[in-house]
Amino acid sequence: MTDFKMAWEAVLRELSVHIPRSQLLTWCQRSALLNIEEDILILGIQSDFYRGWFEKQKPQILQIAKTIFKDVKGIEIIIDKEVASGKHLGIVDIPHLIKNLEPDEEEERKIKTRKLPNRHEEKLEGEFISKIIDERFTLRNFVVGEENQLAHAACRAVSDDPGGAYNPLFIYGSVGLGKTHLLQATANEIRRKNQETLVVYLTTENFIAEVVEAIQKRLMEKVRQKYRKVDVFILDDIQFLAGKDRTQEVFFHLFNDLYASKKQIILSSDRPPLELELTEDRLKSRFSMGMIADIKLPDFETRLAISKIKAQEMGIMLDDELLNFIAFNVHHSIRELEGVMLQTKAQIELQGISPTPKSVAKILKELNKGQKILGYSEEEKSSTGLARTIEDVLEGVCDYYQVPKSEVLGTSRNREFVVPRQIVMYLVKKHLKLSLQIIGEFFTGRDHTSVMHSLKKVEQAKKDDPNLWRELNTLTKELGL
Ligand code: ADP
Ligand code: MG
Repeated sequence: MTDFKMAWEAVLRELSVHIPRSQLLTWCQRSALLNIEEDILILGIQSDFYRGWFEKQKPQILQIAKTIFKDVKGIEIIIDKEVASGKHLGIVDIPHLIKNLEPDEEEERKIKTRKLPNRHEEKLEGEFISKIIDERFTLRNFVVGEENQLAHAACRAVSDDPGGAYNPLFIYGSVGLGKTHLLQATANEIRRKNQETLVVYLTTENFIAEVVEAIQKRLMEKVRQKYRKVDVFILDDIQFLAGKDRTQEVFFHLFNDLYASKKQIILSSDRPPLELELTEDRLKSRFSMGMIADIKLPDFETRLAISKIKAQEMGIMLDDELLNFIAFNVHHSIRELEGVMLQTKAQIELQGISPTPKSVAKILKELNKGQKILGYSEEEKSSTGLARTIEDVLEGVCDYYQVPKSEVLGTSRNREFVVPRQIVMYLVKKHLKLSLQIIGEFFTGRDHTSVMHSLKKVEQAKKDDPNLWRELNTLTKELGL
Protein backbone atom coordinates (compact mmCIF):
# COMPACT_ATOMS: atom_id res chain seq x y z
CA MET A 1 0.00 0.00 0.00
CA THR A 2 2.70 2.46 0.95
CA ASP A 3 4.45 1.68 -2.32
CA PHE A 4 1.39 2.77 -4.22
CA LYS A 5 1.18 5.83 -2.05
CA MET A 6 4.77 6.70 -2.81
CA ALA A 7 4.23 6.10 -6.50
CA TRP A 8 1.13 8.29 -6.56
CA GLU A 9 2.95 10.98 -4.68
CA ALA A 10 5.77 10.83 -7.22
CA VAL A 11 3.26 11.12 -10.05
CA LEU A 12 1.57 14.11 -8.46
CA ARG A 13 4.87 15.76 -7.77
CA GLU A 14 5.81 15.48 -11.41
CA LEU A 15 2.34 16.57 -12.49
CA SER A 16 2.78 19.72 -10.43
CA VAL A 17 5.40 20.82 -12.90
CA HIS A 18 2.78 20.90 -15.64
CA ILE A 19 -0.32 22.22 -13.95
CA PRO A 20 -1.00 25.03 -11.49
CA ARG A 21 -0.67 24.00 -7.89
CA SER A 22 -4.11 25.28 -7.09
CA GLN A 23 -5.47 22.55 -9.37
CA LEU A 24 -3.56 19.92 -7.50
CA LEU A 25 -5.11 21.19 -4.30
CA THR A 26 -8.57 21.41 -5.72
CA TRP A 27 -8.78 18.08 -7.45
CA CYS A 28 -6.26 15.66 -5.99
CA GLN A 29 -6.71 15.97 -2.23
CA ARG A 30 -8.76 12.83 -2.15
CA SER A 31 -7.30 10.55 -4.73
CA ALA A 32 -5.18 7.42 -4.52
CA LEU A 33 -3.54 4.82 -6.64
CA LEU A 34 -5.53 1.77 -5.57
CA ASN A 35 -3.95 -0.96 -7.58
CA ILE A 36 -2.40 -2.04 -10.85
CA GLU A 37 -4.37 -4.74 -12.59
CA GLU A 38 -3.07 -6.18 -15.83
CA ASP A 39 -0.98 -3.10 -16.46
CA ILE A 40 -3.90 -0.77 -15.87
CA LEU A 41 -3.55 1.77 -13.08
CA ILE A 42 -6.67 1.88 -10.95
CA LEU A 43 -7.12 5.37 -9.58
CA GLY A 44 -9.61 6.01 -6.81
CA ILE A 45 -11.36 9.35 -6.63
CA GLN A 46 -14.05 10.66 -4.32
CA SER A 47 -16.97 11.31 -6.64
CA ASP A 48 -18.16 11.85 -10.16
CA PHE A 49 -17.64 15.56 -9.78
CA TYR A 50 -13.88 14.98 -9.97
CA ARG A 51 -13.95 12.53 -12.84
CA GLY A 52 -13.87 15.09 -15.64
CA TRP A 53 -10.68 16.65 -14.44
CA PHE A 54 -8.93 13.31 -14.06
CA GLU A 55 -10.14 12.16 -17.48
CA LYS A 56 -8.54 15.24 -18.97
CA GLN A 57 -5.26 14.62 -17.19
CA LYS A 58 -5.15 10.93 -18.10
CA PRO A 59 -2.61 11.17 -20.94
CA GLN A 60 -0.30 13.23 -18.81
CA ILE A 61 -0.68 10.98 -15.77
CA LEU A 62 -0.08 7.91 -17.89
CA GLN A 63 3.06 9.35 -19.35
CA ILE A 64 4.42 10.13 -15.92
CA ALA A 65 3.34 6.76 -14.51
CA LYS A 66 5.26 5.00 -17.26
CA THR A 67 8.46 6.39 -15.86
CA ILE A 68 7.68 4.52 -12.65
CA PHE A 69 5.91 1.39 -13.88
CA LYS A 70 7.21 0.88 -17.32
CA ASP A 71 4.57 -1.63 -18.43
CA VAL A 72 1.45 0.36 -17.64
CA LYS A 73 -0.88 0.76 -20.57
CA GLY A 74 -3.86 2.59 -19.29
CA ILE A 75 -5.73 4.18 -16.44
CA GLU A 76 -9.10 3.37 -14.99
CA ILE A 77 -10.77 5.85 -12.73
CA ILE A 78 -13.17 4.58 -10.14
CA ILE A 79 -15.04 6.10 -7.25
CA ASP A 80 -13.84 4.62 -4.00
CA LYS A 81 -15.64 4.91 -0.69
CA GLU A 82 -12.53 4.81 1.41
CA VAL A 83 -10.91 7.49 -0.68
CA ALA A 84 -14.08 9.59 -0.45
CA SER A 85 -14.09 9.34 3.33
CA GLY A 86 -10.43 10.34 3.48
CA LYS A 87 -9.54 7.09 5.25
CA HIS A 88 -7.68 5.38 2.43
CA LEU A 89 -4.03 4.92 3.34
CA GLY A 90 -2.86 5.75 -0.15
CA ILE A 91 -4.12 9.33 -0.01
CA VAL A 92 -1.33 11.83 -0.44
CA ASP A 93 -1.13 14.90 1.76
CA ILE A 94 -1.28 17.49 -1.02
CA PRO A 95 -0.76 20.68 1.01
CA HIS A 96 2.29 19.03 2.49
CA LEU A 97 3.51 17.90 -0.90
CA ILE A 98 3.12 21.38 -2.27
CA LYS A 99 4.94 22.92 0.62
CA ASN A 100 7.92 20.74 -0.12
CA LEU A 101 8.04 21.43 -3.84
CA GLU A 102 10.56 23.73 -5.32
CA PRO A 103 8.95 27.16 -5.17
CA ASP A 104 7.41 28.12 -8.45
CA GLU A 105 8.33 31.44 -9.93
CA GLU A 106 5.51 33.43 -8.52
CA GLU A 107 5.89 31.81 -5.13
CA GLU A 108 9.57 32.57 -5.26
CA ARG A 109 8.94 36.22 -5.80
CA LYS A 110 6.68 36.29 -2.78
CA ILE A 111 9.15 34.41 -0.65
CA LYS A 112 12.01 36.69 -1.59
CA THR A 113 10.19 39.61 -0.15
CA ARG A 114 9.35 37.98 3.14
CA LYS A 115 11.99 35.38 3.80
CA LEU A 116 13.38 35.36 7.29
CA PRO A 117 17.13 35.20 7.55
CA ASN A 118 17.95 31.68 8.49
CA ARG A 119 21.19 31.37 10.30
CA HIS A 120 20.62 27.97 11.71
CA GLU A 121 20.37 25.95 8.61
CA GLU A 122 23.86 24.53 8.62
CA LYS A 123 23.89 23.88 12.30
CA LEU A 124 20.96 21.59 11.83
CA GLU A 125 21.97 20.15 8.51
CA GLY A 126 19.36 22.08 6.74
CA GLU A 127 16.40 19.99 5.77
CA PHE A 128 13.81 20.90 8.28
CA ILE A 129 13.73 24.49 9.22
CA SER A 130 12.90 26.74 6.37
CA LYS A 131 11.21 24.22 4.16
CA ILE A 132 8.59 23.01 6.49
CA ILE A 133 7.68 26.06 8.46
CA ASP A 134 5.21 27.90 6.34
CA GLU A 135 5.48 31.61 6.85
CA ARG A 136 1.91 32.18 5.83
CA PHE A 137 0.79 30.78 9.16
CA THR A 138 0.89 33.41 11.85
CA LEU A 139 -0.74 33.85 15.20
CA ARG A 140 -2.29 37.02 13.87
CA ASN A 141 -4.07 35.45 10.93
CA PHE A 142 -5.49 32.72 13.13
CA VAL A 143 -9.05 33.75 13.90
CA VAL A 144 -9.86 33.32 17.54
CA GLY A 145 -13.23 32.17 18.87
CA GLU A 146 -14.28 30.53 22.07
CA GLU A 147 -13.46 27.07 20.74
CA ASN A 148 -9.80 27.68 19.99
CA GLN A 149 -9.08 30.58 22.31
CA LEU A 150 -7.20 28.58 24.91
CA ALA A 151 -4.90 26.91 22.37
CA HIS A 152 -4.18 30.24 20.73
CA ALA A 153 -3.44 31.95 24.03
CA ALA A 154 -1.14 29.12 25.06
CA CYS A 155 0.78 29.42 21.80
CA ARG A 156 1.10 33.13 22.31
CA ALA A 157 2.39 32.59 25.85
CA VAL A 158 4.91 30.01 24.65
CA SER A 159 6.13 32.30 21.92
CA ASP A 160 6.69 35.02 24.54
CA ASP A 161 8.60 32.70 26.80
CA PRO A 162 9.78 29.47 25.20
CA GLY A 163 10.72 26.83 27.73
CA GLY A 164 8.83 28.75 30.41
CA ALA A 165 5.64 27.91 32.25
CA TYR A 166 3.87 25.99 29.50
CA ASN A 167 6.17 23.10 28.80
CA PRO A 168 5.37 20.88 27.09
CA LEU A 169 2.47 22.45 25.27
CA PHE A 170 0.06 19.84 24.02
CA ILE A 171 -2.66 20.81 21.56
CA TYR A 172 -5.31 18.39 20.47
CA GLY A 173 -8.40 18.36 18.29
CA SER A 174 -9.70 16.58 15.23
CA VAL A 175 -8.40 17.18 11.72
CA GLY A 176 -8.57 20.48 9.95
CA LEU A 177 -9.15 22.64 13.01
CA GLY A 178 -5.89 24.54 12.91
CA LYS A 179 -3.34 22.56 14.93
CA THR A 180 -0.64 22.68 12.27
CA HIS A 181 -1.44 26.33 11.67
CA LEU A 182 -0.93 27.14 15.35
CA LEU A 183 2.24 25.08 15.68
CA GLN A 184 3.87 26.67 12.68
CA ALA A 185 2.65 30.12 13.65
CA THR A 186 4.25 29.67 17.05
CA ALA A 187 7.50 28.62 15.38
CA ASN A 188 7.36 31.68 13.15
CA GLU A 189 6.61 33.98 16.03
CA ILE A 190 9.45 32.65 18.16
CA ARG A 191 11.89 33.11 15.31
CA ARG A 192 10.55 36.53 14.53
CA LYS A 193 11.22 37.64 18.08
CA ASN A 194 14.59 36.04 18.34
CA GLN A 195 16.36 34.77 15.32
CA GLU A 196 18.97 33.08 17.41
CA THR A 197 16.44 30.58 18.68
CA LEU A 198 16.79 27.23 17.04
CA VAL A 199 13.31 26.02 16.17
CA VAL A 200 12.52 22.69 14.62
CA TYR A 201 9.12 21.70 13.37
CA LEU A 202 8.61 18.10 12.31
CA THR A 203 5.66 16.04 11.30
CA THR A 204 5.61 12.79 13.19
CA GLU A 205 5.82 10.95 9.89
CA ASN A 206 9.06 12.76 9.03
CA PHE A 207 10.42 12.02 12.44
CA ILE A 208 9.58 8.32 12.19
CA ALA A 209 11.17 8.15 8.76
CA GLU A 210 14.31 9.80 10.02
CA VAL A 211 14.59 7.50 13.01
CA VAL A 212 14.05 4.41 10.87
CA GLU A 213 16.71 5.49 8.44
CA ALA A 214 19.11 6.40 11.21
CA ILE A 215 18.67 2.99 12.78
CA GLN A 216 19.37 1.28 9.48
CA LYS A 217 22.43 3.34 8.82
CA ARG A 218 23.57 3.22 12.42
CA LEU A 219 23.43 6.98 12.70
CA MET A 220 21.05 7.19 15.63
CA GLU A 221 23.56 8.85 17.85
CA LYS A 222 24.06 11.63 15.33
CA VAL A 223 20.34 12.27 15.10
CA ARG A 224 20.10 12.38 18.86
CA GLN A 225 22.90 14.87 19.10
CA LYS A 226 21.37 17.00 16.41
CA TYR A 227 18.01 17.39 18.11
CA ARG A 228 19.47 17.94 21.52
CA LYS A 229 20.78 21.23 20.26
CA VAL A 230 17.43 22.74 19.44
CA ASP A 231 15.71 25.32 21.62
CA VAL A 232 12.17 24.58 20.49
CA PHE A 233 11.12 21.14 19.30
CA ILE A 234 7.73 20.84 17.62
CA LEU A 235 6.21 17.52 16.69
CA ASP A 236 2.91 17.53 14.79
CA ASP A 237 0.31 14.73 14.83
CA ILE A 238 1.93 12.49 17.40
CA GLN A 239 -1.00 10.05 17.29
CA PHE A 240 1.04 8.53 14.45
CA LEU A 241 3.56 7.31 17.00
CA ALA A 242 1.13 4.46 17.67
CA GLY A 243 2.79 1.16 16.83
CA LYS A 244 6.17 2.78 16.26
CA ASP A 245 7.91 1.44 19.31
CA ARG A 246 11.46 2.32 18.40
CA THR A 247 10.56 5.90 17.56
CA GLN A 248 8.62 6.17 20.82
CA GLU A 249 11.66 5.06 22.72
CA VAL A 250 13.93 7.50 20.90
CA PHE A 251 11.44 10.27 21.48
CA PHE A 252 11.14 9.43 25.16
CA HIS A 253 14.84 10.02 25.67
CA LEU A 254 14.90 13.11 23.49
CA PHE A 255 11.94 14.50 25.40
CA ASN A 256 13.66 13.99 28.74
CA ASP A 257 16.85 15.64 27.53
CA LEU A 258 15.07 18.64 26.09
CA TYR A 259 12.81 19.02 29.07
CA ALA A 260 15.65 18.80 31.55
CA SER A 261 17.49 21.58 29.79
CA LYS A 262 14.34 23.72 29.71
CA LYS A 263 13.86 23.56 25.98
CA GLN A 264 10.34 24.16 24.75
CA ILE A 265 8.43 21.15 23.42
CA ILE A 266 5.20 21.60 21.48
CA LEU A 267 3.07 18.65 20.44
CA SER A 268 -0.17 18.14 18.61
CA SER A 269 -2.45 15.18 18.35
CA ASP A 270 -5.97 14.28 17.34
CA ARG A 271 -6.77 13.14 20.89
CA PRO A 272 -5.79 13.95 24.48
CA PRO A 273 -2.56 12.42 25.88
CA LEU A 274 -4.20 9.67 27.87
CA GLU A 275 -6.08 8.38 24.87
CA LEU A 276 -3.00 7.95 22.73
CA GLU A 277 -2.16 4.38 21.78
CA LEU A 278 1.40 4.27 22.98
CA THR A 279 3.42 1.37 24.27
CA GLU A 280 5.65 3.83 26.09
CA ASP A 281 3.18 4.64 28.85
CA ARG A 282 5.73 6.95 30.36
CA LEU A 283 5.33 9.22 27.37
CA LYS A 284 1.68 9.88 28.14
CA SER A 285 2.45 11.14 31.59
CA ARG A 286 5.27 13.27 30.19
CA PHE A 287 2.87 14.83 27.73
CA SER A 288 0.52 15.77 30.54
CA MET A 289 3.11 17.62 32.59
CA GLY A 290 2.64 21.04 31.04
CA MET A 291 -0.26 22.75 29.36
CA ILE A 292 -3.00 20.88 27.50
CA ALA A 293 -5.37 22.79 25.25
CA ASP A 294 -8.04 21.44 22.94
CA ILE A 295 -9.53 22.91 19.77
CA LYS A 296 -13.09 22.38 18.64
CA LEU A 297 -14.93 23.53 15.57
CA PRO A 298 -15.41 27.31 15.82
CA ASP A 299 -18.94 28.67 15.98
CA PHE A 300 -20.71 30.29 13.06
CA GLU A 301 -19.43 33.84 13.61
CA THR A 302 -15.83 32.70 13.84
CA ARG A 303 -16.24 30.52 10.75
CA LEU A 304 -17.64 33.51 8.91
CA ALA A 305 -14.65 35.61 9.92
CA ILE A 306 -12.32 32.84 8.77
CA SER A 307 -14.10 32.53 5.43
CA LYS A 308 -13.65 36.25 4.86
CA ILE A 309 -9.93 36.05 5.52
CA LYS A 310 -9.56 33.00 3.32
CA ALA A 311 -11.43 34.63 0.45
CA GLN A 312 -9.03 37.51 0.67
CA GLU A 313 -6.01 35.23 0.79
CA MET A 314 -7.26 33.27 -2.19
CA GLY A 315 -8.00 36.43 -4.08
CA ILE A 316 -11.65 35.70 -4.75
CA MET A 317 -14.59 38.02 -4.38
CA LEU A 318 -17.60 36.41 -2.81
CA ASP A 319 -20.57 38.35 -1.57
CA ASP A 320 -21.61 38.23 2.06
CA GLU A 321 -24.60 36.08 1.36
CA LEU A 322 -22.40 33.35 -0.06
CA LEU A 323 -19.82 33.58 2.69
CA ASN A 324 -22.62 33.29 5.22
CA PHE A 325 -23.98 30.33 3.39
CA ILE A 326 -20.62 28.54 3.34
CA ALA A 327 -19.81 29.29 6.97
CA PHE A 328 -23.26 28.11 8.00
CA ASN A 329 -23.07 24.81 6.19
CA VAL A 330 -19.57 23.71 7.07
CA HIS A 331 -19.90 21.33 10.00
CA HIS A 332 -16.62 19.50 10.31
CA SER A 333 -13.50 21.54 9.93
CA ILE A 334 -11.87 24.68 8.67
CA ARG A 335 -10.06 22.60 6.08
CA GLU A 336 -13.47 21.67 4.70
CA LEU A 337 -14.37 25.35 4.61
CA GLU A 338 -11.20 26.03 2.66
CA GLY A 339 -11.96 23.12 0.36
CA VAL A 340 -15.34 24.57 -0.53
CA MET A 341 -13.79 27.94 -1.20
CA LEU A 342 -11.00 26.50 -3.32
CA GLN A 343 -13.50 24.65 -5.46
CA THR A 344 -15.60 27.75 -5.76
CA LYS A 345 -12.49 29.57 -6.93
CA ALA A 346 -11.83 26.79 -9.44
CA GLN A 347 -15.40 27.11 -10.75
CA ILE A 348 -14.90 30.80 -11.27
CA GLU A 349 -11.54 30.42 -12.93
CA LEU A 350 -11.85 27.22 -14.89
CA GLN A 351 -15.49 27.20 -15.86
CA GLY A 352 -16.34 30.87 -15.87
CA ILE A 353 -19.21 30.36 -13.48
CA SER A 354 -20.29 32.99 -10.97
CA PRO A 355 -20.90 31.11 -7.75
CA THR A 356 -24.44 31.04 -6.42
CA PRO A 357 -25.88 29.34 -3.35
CA LYS A 358 -26.95 26.58 -5.66
CA SER A 359 -23.51 25.92 -7.11
CA VAL A 360 -21.96 26.10 -3.66
CA ALA A 361 -24.64 23.77 -2.30
CA LYS A 362 -23.57 21.28 -4.93
CA ILE A 363 -19.95 21.45 -3.84
CA LEU A 364 -20.97 21.00 -0.21
CA LYS A 365 -23.08 18.00 -1.14
CA GLU A 366 -20.19 16.45 -3.00
CA LEU A 367 -17.98 16.85 0.03
CA ASN A 368 -20.49 15.45 2.46
CA LYS A 369 -22.89 13.05 0.94
CA GLY A 370 -26.24 13.12 2.60
CA GLN A 371 -25.69 16.40 4.37
CA LYS A 372 -28.69 18.66 4.57
CA ILE A 373 -27.84 22.03 3.18
CA LEU A 374 -29.55 24.62 5.31
CA GLY A 375 -30.56 28.07 4.22
CA TYR A 376 -31.16 26.97 0.70
CA SER A 377 -34.87 26.44 0.20
CA GLU A 378 -34.71 25.60 -3.47
CA GLU A 379 -32.67 22.56 -2.68
CA GLU A 380 -35.31 19.83 -2.87
CA LYS A 381 -36.72 21.17 -6.05
CA SER A 382 -33.42 21.75 -7.72
CA SER A 383 -32.08 18.29 -7.21
CA THR A 384 -34.57 16.93 -9.70
CA GLY A 385 -35.47 20.16 -11.38
CA LEU A 386 -33.95 20.32 -14.82
CA ALA A 387 -35.52 23.07 -16.85
CA ARG A 388 -37.61 21.33 -19.44
CA THR A 389 -40.06 23.99 -20.53
CA ILE A 390 -40.00 27.65 -21.48
CA GLU A 391 -41.80 28.29 -18.22
CA ASP A 392 -38.93 26.68 -16.24
CA VAL A 393 -36.35 28.78 -18.03
CA LEU A 394 -38.38 31.95 -17.57
CA GLU A 395 -38.72 31.25 -13.88
CA GLY A 396 -35.00 30.52 -13.46
CA VAL A 397 -33.94 33.65 -15.29
CA CYS A 398 -36.38 35.91 -13.42
CA ASP A 399 -35.19 34.42 -10.19
CA TYR A 400 -31.60 35.05 -11.10
CA TYR A 401 -32.11 38.67 -12.13
CA GLN A 402 -34.76 39.28 -9.50
CA VAL A 403 -37.33 40.67 -11.90
CA PRO A 404 -41.06 39.90 -12.10
CA LYS A 405 -42.17 37.37 -14.70
CA SER A 406 -45.01 39.59 -15.87
CA GLU A 407 -42.59 42.32 -16.95
CA VAL A 408 -40.31 39.89 -18.76
CA LEU A 409 -43.27 38.35 -20.57
CA GLY A 410 -44.75 41.77 -21.32
CA THR A 411 -43.75 44.52 -23.69
CA SER A 412 -41.73 46.87 -21.52
CA ARG A 413 -38.74 48.47 -23.29
CA ASN A 414 -36.97 48.96 -19.98
CA ARG A 415 -33.48 47.42 -20.23
CA GLU A 416 -33.88 45.79 -16.86
CA PHE A 417 -36.56 43.57 -18.39
CA VAL A 418 -35.42 43.47 -22.01
CA VAL A 419 -32.13 41.74 -21.21
CA PRO A 420 -33.68 38.89 -19.17
CA ARG A 421 -36.32 38.51 -21.88
CA GLN A 422 -33.68 38.13 -24.56
CA ILE A 423 -31.76 35.69 -22.41
CA VAL A 424 -34.80 33.50 -21.90
CA MET A 425 -35.30 33.40 -25.66
CA TYR A 426 -31.67 32.61 -26.25
CA LEU A 427 -31.51 29.78 -23.71
CA VAL A 428 -34.77 28.28 -24.89
CA LYS A 429 -33.72 28.35 -28.51
CA LYS A 430 -30.28 26.99 -27.83
CA HIS A 431 -31.10 24.28 -25.34
CA LEU A 432 -34.75 23.36 -25.75
CA LYS A 433 -34.58 23.66 -29.52
CA LEU A 434 -38.00 25.22 -29.91
CA SER A 435 -38.93 27.07 -33.09
CA LEU A 436 -38.75 30.84 -33.33
CA GLN A 437 -42.46 30.90 -33.87
CA ILE A 438 -43.33 29.02 -30.72
CA ILE A 439 -40.98 31.17 -28.71
CA GLY A 440 -42.57 34.28 -30.24
CA GLU A 441 -46.02 33.11 -29.29
CA PHE A 442 -44.99 32.57 -25.71
CA PHE A 443 -44.08 36.21 -25.31
CA THR A 444 -46.82 38.75 -25.80
CA GLY A 445 -47.14 40.01 -29.31
CA ARG A 446 -43.89 38.90 -30.91
CA ASP A 447 -43.25 37.24 -34.22
CA HIS A 448 -40.33 35.15 -35.24
CA THR A 449 -38.29 38.07 -36.63
CA SER A 450 -38.39 39.81 -33.32
CA VAL A 451 -37.20 36.61 -31.62
CA MET A 452 -34.44 36.32 -34.20
CA HIS A 453 -33.38 39.88 -33.47
CA SER A 454 -33.16 39.10 -29.75
CA LEU A 455 -31.03 36.03 -30.34
CA LYS A 456 -28.56 38.03 -32.42
CA LYS A 457 -28.36 40.65 -29.72
CA VAL A 458 -27.43 38.07 -27.10
CA GLU A 459 -24.89 36.39 -29.41
CA GLN A 460 -23.21 39.73 -29.94
CA ALA A 461 -23.35 40.85 -26.31
CA LYS A 462 -21.91 37.52 -25.24
CA LYS A 463 -18.78 38.30 -27.25
CA ASP A 464 -18.46 41.86 -25.99
CA ASP A 465 -19.37 41.48 -22.38
CA PRO A 466 -17.55 38.94 -20.21
CA ASN A 467 -20.07 39.42 -17.43
CA LEU A 468 -22.92 38.37 -19.62
CA TRP A 469 -20.92 35.41 -20.81
CA ARG A 470 -20.42 34.37 -17.22
CA GLU A 471 -24.07 34.89 -16.37
CA LEU A 472 -25.13 32.72 -19.27
CA ASN A 473 -22.77 29.97 -18.16
CA THR A 474 -24.11 30.17 -14.67
CA LEU A 475 -27.73 30.09 -15.78
CA THR A 476 -27.11 27.18 -18.11
CA LYS A 477 -25.58 25.21 -15.31
CA GLU A 478 -28.16 26.25 -12.71
CA LEU A 479 -31.02 25.26 -14.93
CA GLY A 480 -29.38 21.98 -15.83
CA LEU A 481 -29.62 22.81 -19.52
P1 ADP B 1 -5.00 20.49 11.53
O1 ADP B 1 -3.51 20.52 11.62
O2 ADP B 1 -5.68 20.64 12.86
O3 ADP B 1 -5.50 19.30 10.78
P2 ADP B 1 -4.63 22.83 9.91
O4 ADP B 1 -3.79 23.64 10.81
O5 ADP B 1 -3.96 22.16 8.78
O6 ADP B 1 -5.46 21.77 10.73
O7 ADP B 1 -5.81 23.76 9.41
C1 ADP B 1 -6.48 23.55 8.19
C2 ADP B 1 -6.64 24.86 7.50
O8 ADP B 1 -7.58 25.66 8.21
C3 ADP B 1 -5.36 25.64 7.42
O9 ADP B 1 -5.24 26.21 6.15
C4 ADP B 1 -5.53 26.72 8.47
O10 ADP B 1 -4.89 27.91 8.06
C5 ADP B 1 -7.02 26.91 8.51
N1 ADP B 1 -7.51 27.31 9.83
C6 ADP B 1 -7.92 26.52 10.83
N2 ADP B 1 -8.34 27.23 11.89
C7 ADP B 1 -8.18 28.52 11.56
C8 ADP B 1 -8.44 29.77 12.24
N3 ADP B 1 -8.96 29.80 13.47
N4 ADP B 1 -8.17 30.91 11.57
C9 ADP B 1 -7.67 30.88 10.32
N5 ADP B 1 -7.40 29.76 9.64
C10 ADP B 1 -7.66 28.58 10.24
MG1 MG C 1 -2.14 19.14 10.87
